[in-house]
Amino acid sequence: MNVLLIGSGGREHALAWKLAASPMLTKLYAAPGNPGIAREAECVALDAADHDAMLSFCRTNAIDLVVVGPEAPLVAGLADHLRDGGIAVFGPSAEAARLEGSKGYTKDLCARMDIPTAAYRRFNNAPKAKAYLRDIGAPVVVKADGLAAGKGVTVAMTLEEALSAVDDCFEGAFGGAGAEVVVEEFLTGEEASFFCLCDGKIALPLGTAQDHKRVGEGDTGPNTGGMGAYSPASVMTPELVDQVMREIVEPTMRGMAEAGAPFSGVLYAGLMLTSDGPKLIEYNVRFGDPECQVLMMRLKDDLLVLLKAAADGQLGHMSVRWRDEAALTVVMAAKGYPGTPEKGGAIRGLAEAGSGGVEVFHAGTAEKDGAIVANGGRVLNVTATGRTVAEARDKAYAAVERIDWPQGFCRRDIGWREIERETA
Ligand code: ATP
Repeated sequence: MNVLLIGSGGREHALAWKLAASPMLTKLYAAPGNPGIAREAECVALDAADHDAMLSFCRTNAIDLVVVGPEAPLVAGLADHLRDGGIAVFGPSAEAARLEGSKGYTKDLCARMDIPTAAYRRFNNAPKAKAYLRDIGAPVVVKADGLAAGKGVTVAMTLEEALSAVDDCFEGAFGGAGAEVVVEEFLTGEEASFFCLCDGKIALPLGTAQDHKRVGEGDTGPNTGGMGAYSPASVMTPELVDQVMREIVEPTMRGMAEAGAPFSGVLYAGLMLTSDGPKLIEYNVRFGDPECQVLMMRLKDDLLVLLKAAADGQLGHMSVRWRDEAALTVVMAAKGYPGTPEKGGAIRGLAEAGSGGVEVFHAGTAEKDGAIVANGGRVLNVTATGRTVAEARDKAYAAVERIDWPQGFCRRDIGWREIERETA
């Protein structure tokens, strides 16, 4: 099969690495890719926003499957355009991608299908939202409805914070994403990520993970795209996975089909494990980054076969097998991140670090005069497996030590919660 992978982050490098291992693969292209992906694929300078150019590339190069990594092209309808042109795509339609693109859409689906989630109200103007907030008080959560790169959510511990979050949204801090606001009940508990592979009708569990969103050790400081992750997350017991499939994922699949927007692709449920059972915080319609990196390290089966079956609506007889190992990834970021990162610093020691079962996935890197340099905020994902999360952690940090990049940093405590559990 000829495959075109869309994206340029660590998530896509991990997908490229796993796709390249498939005996079913003839040729892998990536658009636009990055220097790490270029080891597995031919990188092509195509713009995912140019749907016609994408379709004509697929036709010219006899592409059998397009795998879309990030959410923005999905929300913008790339999968619909390619499918209308007769190309198989792994990823949801624009309508189904509203599960990530509009928080209000997902909350309404939850209400319709009786899916456990935080109680909520939707508002399209500030005075009504504020009146409601004054009524219910804090703690409370205020969310811009649309995609805001993780910045549109305020967990407000005081009424003042909540009111000012409403102003931010309606005053355009998040552009069009803030034209509507969702106010949610504040939930407490441990968070976990749960992934499913979906073909429009069927959802297959695809593993669990936990990530670290804050930039600082002990989960402190500003939010980031994710500073590390591990899988599996033992808090997601087999019983909880069954419960989440029954109460959350399966009603979602039914509800989407009933709404004429059957969901295919990766359904990524952000969950809060409350004393009242698991509740849905949010859906994403693609793999998490960096959660994808740890899932790919653990996946035993042929990823290409699974993704093609999902794209073709043929997951019915499939199962997913995992290595009996944990995986952990440490994100190395450029100093300054999540503010303005220092770009251009040379990175050495990558070959030494990426040996002995450790994979160093590239995110924001570039190649300059034959050397790898930093070219973004999150730059490398140092990923290892082990019999336990602690063992995977030790291998990953030993590899981090071999990377010579003075302008880089990482958190030193990835996996701490799980390792505390392992050693308890
Ligand atoms: P992401 O960066 O994960 O895509 P997002 O912008 O889609 O984020 P959410 O996942 O909905 O936003 O919320 C971000 C974080 O805010 C959650 O991971 C969780 O920690 C917190 N949060 C969201 N909703 C609630 C809630 N109802 N109660 C408590 N905390 C919440």
